[in-house]
Amino acid sequence: MAIINQEKCIGCKICQTYCTVDAIMADGRKCYIDQERCTECYVCLRQKVCPKNAIEPIELNDFYKQFQHVMSDPVENHGVTGVTGRGTEEVKTNDVSGRVIKGEVGICIDMGRPGMGVYLRDAEKVAMVCASAGVKLANSDHTPLAALMPDLTTGKLVDECHNYHLLSVIVEGKCPEAILPDVLLALKQVEKEIDTVFSLGLIIRVDENGNAPVLDCLHDLAISYPHRGKVNVGLGKPLSIA
Ligand code: SF4
Ligand code: SF4
Repeated sequence: MAIINQEKCIGCKICQTYCTVDAIMADGRKCYIDQERCTECYVCLRQKVCPKNAIEPIELNDFYKQFQHVMSDPVENHGVTGVTGRGTEEVKTNDVSGRVIKGEVGICIDMGRPGMGVYLRDAEKVAMVCASAGVKLANSDHTPLAALMPDLTTGKLVDECHNYHLLSVIVEGKCPEAILPDVLLALKQVEKEIDTVFSLGLIIRVDENGNAPVLDCLHDLAISYPHRGKVNVGLGKPLSIA
């Protein structure tokens, strides 16, 4: 946990401009860290921004604090998935992993942004509407958030984690193409009920003519989308041809 040593702090406020979520507060002649808002991203520590070395680390003994730090600090490596950043490859490696096959849509909901962050209670709301609409949420082999989700079929997170603030977190899973409209409508509804932003990635395999039927679905629901593609030529031998 990052704290500001009040004996050393001279209240210059230099650190405030570096905090990723505006968690450093000025209190008279000193600054302090709002621990409810801090994401434990450690930018303020890693960048050595304080001229008085007043920002100090304290060992993270609490499981949820450790989770918060690993998810928010991009140089940390997630222990189970072995992936840095937010601990998931999402489905960027789908050409090799084959997690999403033809007829399915991979769902990747990227919640929170620097400057805003995301509380886990909001990640729960999004995960629950996805599960309710028929998304099969990814398990903890693939995504860290599942470690806080005792029952993947509901998307509910353990109550103890609700008030932890992360820089960003990814809710991911997959569903049959046929129910994608239900999932999209559920997301359009829940976006009004959360205190952060998210972007939605849809992962599909195009058909033999290069067409992607899910684009019609987006069009029907008036959801705008950028045209993006990633072609990892020669980066791996496909394990799945489905
Ligand atoms: S940069 Fe250091 S001395 Fe200046 S306000 Fe922040 S903690 Fe205090
Ligand atoms: S650890 Fe990150 S969120 Fe917390 S005070 Fe430092 S920069 Fe801000």
